[in-house]
Amino acid sequence: MDFEYGIIGGGPAGYTAGMNLAKLGHSVVLFEKNKLGGTCMNAGCIPTKSFLHSAEVYSNLKKAADFGIEVDFNNFDFSKVVEKKDTVIEKIRKNLEIAVKNSGVKIVYAEANIKDKNTIITQEEEYNVNQIIIACGSKPKEIKGLKFDGNFILNSEDVLNLHKLPKSILIVGSGAIGTEWARIFSSFDVEVTIVELAEHLIPNADIEVSKRIERIYKQKGIKFYLKDCVERIDNKTVYLKSGVELNPEIILVAVGRTPICPKCDNSIVLGDSCGEIQLAHYAIHQAKEFTLNIPFEKTLTPSVIYGEPEIAWVGLREQDIDTSYKKSMLPITALGKSWCDDSTDGFIKLITKDNLICGAHIVSKEASSLIHILEIAIQNKITVDKLKEICFAHPTYAEGIFDLICRI
Ligand SMILES: Cc1cc2nc3c(=O)[nH]c(=O)nc-3n(C[C@H](O)[C@H](O)[C@H](O)COP(=O)(O)OP(=O)(O)OC[C@H]3O[C@@H](n4cnc5c(N)ncnc54)[C@H](O)[C@@H]3O)c2cc1C
Repeated sequence: MDFEYGIIGGGPAGYTAGMNLAKLGHSVVLFEKNKLGGTCMNAGCIPTKSFLHSAEVYSNLKKAADFGIEVDFNNFDFSKVVEKKDTVIEKIRKNLEIAVKNSGVKIVYAEANIKDKNTIITQEEEYNVNQIIIACGSKPKEIKGLKFDGNFILNSEDVLNLHKLPKSILIVGSGAIGTEWARIFSSFDVEVTIVELAEHLIPNADIEVSKRIERIYKQKGIKFYLKDCVERIDNKTVYLKSGVELNPEIILVAVGRTPICPKCDNSIVLGDSCGEIQLAHYAIHQAKEFTLNIPFEKTLTPSVIYGEPEIAWVGLREQDIDTSYKKSMLPITALGKSWCDDSTDGFIKLITKDNLICGAHIVSKEASSLIHILEIAIQNKITVDKLKEICFAHPTYAEGIFDLICRI
């Protein structure tokens, strides 16, 4: 069978590239060995956000009495949380499947192997293509001494198969994945301990964001050990390098992901396979850049960590700047809306220079949306003075951005 493009992988990178190319009139075949939507839809972004939402409902119910609502709170069933997550995924995936098919892409549900730069083979068939696109994604990274067994030592895919909450969990690594799972488990009253090799939690974040999250974790009773790692495990007792001994019911290893990228001459590689920024929106925009020739500013790819409070940032961090930059901060307590929502812990922080915003860091409810206002300002070099001319609605979290720029 002959096609202009053969895409291996039906995650955000693969399906975005496929749909765009097909809409431009190209013939496209897309191979997916598992489920359309890739890690993002089936084992990453979407399932974790569904769990996080259930966790938020649970947390809110626990404090409902503070808002004048007495709830009889004895019927928590974690298997229903899992069911809800599955229903959400199923719905979104069905819509995606329809959209991909309607765009004209031929979907082949099979493992694809590359024979040569113009031939892709499955168990059943051989496909001749002018151009191969590799969008195979990535897999959880394993580290020495912590081999995944799906039972005691889990990765971010295994943890989705839990149908019962553990009493305690040790999370190795405090990046986005470790942080989101720490928040999910902790909200459901699981005893959470984190071990992180770096000096602070969420090592890629602005240092003040990391420190605030550490403070919030202390208040919530989430334990963490910094500049530490698992040295050995003996009969389910975990020995940290610092000498600490832990007895978690399970361990989640969240120390990053390894790109999957089969070798092939002249191929185009998109998404996690590239080993660059491993985020769904990066994969989508890379695919859009390749197919529609619409570039995007890669250094301004926003980072978001969900849960309560959300964490989001874009651009320069405290660790990246010298004294020629100015730093300004607004506590979320300054916003009336945060008091109404009982969500006052956090801040908006801006790094500016010469009337321009160069970095933005938010710890707050709705941070995942707010960050885009600042991203647009940074990328388009909208000056702080110009932003002051914009009317922000009250009471919102967005008006925190306005309050802050008025103080710069
Ligand atoms: C727990 C978790 C939470 C996450 N949360 C977020 C988030 O909130 N926001 C965000 O932006 N990112 C998040 N990510 C990252 C995001 O999921 C990835 O960056 C994104 O899925 C990458 O898209 P992709 O298309 O490159 O790869 P994938 O989504 O991994 O898709 C690759 C696809 O290729 C298929 N494939 C591989 N090899 C073959 C083969 N030989 N033949 C046929 N098919 C093949 C796989 O089955 C898979 O479906 C999260 C990841 C995890 C693990």
